[in-house]
Amino acid sequence: MRRAEIIAIGDELLSGETVDTNSSHIDRTLEGHGYAVRRHQTVPDDEALIAEALDEACARAEVVVTTGGLGPTQDDLTFSAVARCLGVELAFHAPTWERIVARYASRGRTPTDNNRRQANLPAGGEPIVNEAGTAPGFTATWRGARFFVLPGVPREMKWLLENAVLPRIPSGDLVVRTTVSAAGIGESALEAEIQPVVEAHPNVRFGYRTQIFVNQVKLLGRGPDAGAEVQAAAAAVEAQLGPRYFGEGEVTLEGATLEALKAAGQTVATAESCTGGYLAKVLTDIPGSSSAVLGGVVAYANEVKVNLLGVSAEVLDREGAVSEAVARQMASGVRETLGATWGISTTGVAGPGGGTPTKPVGTVWLALAGPQGVESWLLEWSPRGRDGIRFATVRSALDRLRRSILDGDTERL
Ligand code: AMP
Ligand code: MG
Repeated sequence: MRRAEIIAIGDELLSGETVDTNSSHIDRTLEGHGYAVRRHQTVPDDEALIAEALDEACARAEVVVTTGGLGPTQDDLTFSAVARCLGVELAFHAPTWERIVARYASRGRTPTDNNRRQANLPAGGEPIVNEAGTAPGFTATWRGARFFVLPGVPREMKWLLENAVLPRIPSGDLVVRTTVSAAGIGESALEAEIQPVVEAHPNVRFGYRTQIFVNQVKLLGRGPDAGAEVQAAAAAVEAQLGPRYFGEGEVTLEGATLEALKAAGQTVATAESCTGGYLAKVLTDIPGSSSAVLGGVVAYANEVKVNLLGVSAEVLDREGAVSEAVARQMASGVRETLGATWGISTTGVAGPGGGTPTKPVGTVWLALAGPQGVESWLLEWSPRGRDGIRFATVRSALDRLRRSILDGDTERL
């Protein structure tokens, strides 16, 4: 396996001013080129620390990429640090200076004296022309590693990575990755359930990513057989997950739900209290959703539940807005009013206030009215904030709908 390391350079990366997005970009690019990025270092604009980081990285990796510290000002010290690491002097590189002058001239400007610093490059090694900016890139070998020095400006770094780094390094093993998504199963249960699949595929690396209500298994393989191995492992995970599986690759839960609706030629209407339209929003975020999403009612106030959805005032009074009976009437009401295959409703206590001993914050009733009747579920979310409760409810609602479409039925009344 070809190993790479990244060194991000700049005081601003260690003071919280700038987020190091460059390293993530370099990770993805090198990974796609068949490299395993084994370590990141982030160092300030300090000559000794940069030199030390470079020396160490070159001792471990085959390819090292640095980013940052190539500006014209006194605090940009990467080239002097590289010279220190290699034990060479900085030397004025005339062709680089001519490019800088020409670049300024093309904008009707002349460079200032401090721009000359950007043409002082370590003697030995190869300066690299940067067509996206003034600071040149640089490459040399040290301790058996090939290292590349790139600017920090993201646009320039990307240009040099693509046009100067990749063409100069051999590509490594083919890397194949995919993601299998599941809903309604926790991370630990997921890992335990797919353990036999993990054991049956020793060449595939399994990773886990947990989100609200959704968990993903990431599969990665390297080498000429990676495609077939990863596909076989993904298929086995999917089979193990059964109806909790909802997609492979870039699929979202709302996307999978919408696809299920469209495939069945069915429609949905929403009646939302505690989610305030969130469910309708995530569904209609998807282009082309109009063929399956008819519309919805944000029934926040009791009068709206009664007047637009036909919820019984008496039931509301007796059971309260957050109740199974009200959720069911909301779902049936919106289904009938909008003439949809499915009516789905949410009513609950999203907090932070409004909880009671019998209906604490996180209590949500969800109901689904369909061709065969109405089903309802009590969701009891653990503390996760108002947004968290609303989002978890939306995801849970999507999944109930998705599974009911796939079942082709709901439980009869
Ligand atoms: P430099 O080459 O160090 O002069 O960097 C120029 C600018 O690029 C900085 O002021 C930052 O805004 C940006 N930058 C530098 N390093 C990074 C990084 N690792 N990730 C994202 N932006 C960066
Ligand atoms: Mg800097």
